[in-house]
Amino acid sequence: MGVLGADLTLKRLVLGQMAVNCYIIASKKTKKAFIIDPGDDFLDIKKYLDDNKLEAEFIIQTHGHIDHIAALKEFDLPIYIHELDKDYLTDGARNLSGFMGEPFELKGKEVKILKDNQVLEFGGNILKILHTPGHTPGGISIILDNAAFTGDTLFASGIGRTDFPGSSTDALIKAIKEKLFTLDDGVVIYPGHGEPSTIGREKKENPFFE
Ligand SMILES: [Zn+2]
Ligand SMILES: [Zn+2]
Repeated sequence: MGVLGADLTLKRLVLGQMAVNCYIIASKKTKKAFIIDPGDDFLDIKKYLDDNKLEAEFIIQTHGHIDHIAALKEFDLPIYIHELDKDYLTDGARNLSGFMGEPFELKGKEVKILKDNQVLEFGGNILKILHTPGHTPGGISIILDNAAFTGDTLFASGIGRTDFPGSSTDALIKAIKEKLFTLDDGVVIYPGHGEPSTIGREKKENPFFE
């Protein structure tokens, strides 16, 4: 099997000033899709969906920082986010947009709460939610087939910043060791910024885990 099941396609769009990775996963069969972290540039996301005749059904947030959520206002889709990051959607101080002079506070959207080990279904595929806090209290990773979408928890050769209010280095290291490094070595990680890697490579080469 490839990284994703044979029916699924994966597209990465790099969006906004912070170069966030937005991922769009779609079914070749049904043309339905879901979006992970629509961080900016709504029109780029819409163009990809339109060009490929895809219909997005829902959005999942790996966490609630502004560089991952900025395009949410433009969508009329349910938004999944971990319960501990829910307030980030409506609080410009917590989502860090306040520092950039234009507080982002979402109103009038359907927000659905995620918990650790929750399972979502997408066209017969299973999305498993792992609570991987530390960068933010409600950070999650999303496991789909042999892919792990790790947000700002784990990067290729790096880990998320923990100098924000609500961050915890200890929690982040623990979550990566106990929840991500226990996945198969061949699982491909798709982080919130930068290039993909694998669990095996990060276990061996990530300088934060010697
Ligand atoms: Zn972040
Ligand atoms: Zn980020």
